[in-house]
Amino acid sequence: MGEVLDGRALAARIREEVRREVEAFAARHGIRPSLAAILVGDEPACALYVRNKARAAGQAGIRSETFHLPARTSQVELLELVDQLNEREDVHGILPQLPLPEHLDPQAVFDRLDPRKDVDGLSPYNVGRLVLGRPALVPCTPLGILELVRATGVELKGARAVVVGRSNLVGKPTALLLLAEHATVTVCHSRTRDLATHTREADVLVVAAGRPHLVTADMVKPGAVVVDVGITREEGGIVGDVDFAGVQAVAGWITPVPGGVGPMTVAMLLRNTLQAARLQLEGGAP
Ligand code: NAD
Repeated sequence: MGEVLDGRALAARIREEVRREVEAFAARHGIRPSLAAILVGDEPACALYVRNKARAAGQAGIRSETFHLPARTSQVELLELVDQLNEREDVHGILPQLPLPEHLDPQAVFDRLDPRKDVDGLSPYNVGRLVLGRPALVPCTPLGILELVRATGVELKGARAVVVGRSNLVGKPTALLLLAEHATVTVCHSRTRDLATHTREADVLVVAAGRPHLVTADMVKPGAVVVDVGITREEGGIVGDVDFAGVQAVAGWITPVPGGVGPMTVAMLLRNTLQAARLQLEGGAP
């Protein structure tokens, strides 16, 4: 029976660590790290994520502001806000909450962000640094995934890692982080033929497809570390991409949904905000 990888407990430890470092930062500089979240439209899930992140920031001693724009906001108006926040010295981290409404181009927003304030690591500069193996600000969810895998103590060097999903937000940066840890990485996606032949090879299996029940017990190598990133709202709550009960019987470790990757994403956002504030006040790359 696989062990449950408790993202809530690990996230709580990291948040406490960040809180202490934030206090030290505030003592050094006389100001607190600060985060500006941009929420466009009235999608309840997005609003909830932003509220949770703002609350977590407050608990860590990080100042936060939320800029709530109406759904009809134009691309030009959104970019104007990004420009203003780029200019403000008292804002260290900028977080455009995804997904944006259909008519807005998220990459254009990240293209415009000051890379030193890009706490979700999605600007071309930060993505480039990650590809080069010289990470600066790294996307929060992939960082959280890596922390969960590390918490198992499993040797990543030379391990077979399979990432299901190739999005810029989750799949690709996760694959790059695992590669930097010297794993042998395979990235699968919706056009992959015979997904199970790949997943069955994985010592570390990260599933970020947004397809409930995609991964079943017969697709998992005995003893593997299984990280379920998926979040799909169904009647009765949210579900991941992995058939938890079945896979737990085979895996060595498995993350629950909820309570796995989700809380880690928030913890990593706080850590990145502190890092962004340090970059701006204490220097270093970028
Ligand atoms: P996305 O839709 O941008 O990408 C999904 C990826 O999965 C694509 O690359 C696609 O090719 C692949 N895919 C889809 N169906 C597949 C199939 N049947 N077989 C193999 N590959 C398949 O989504 P995303 O932004 O990467 O997010 C993925 C999931 O993770 C979503 O459920 C999202 O809600 C969740 N998510 C969770 C967190 C968190 O903090 N827990 C953060 C971000 C995203």
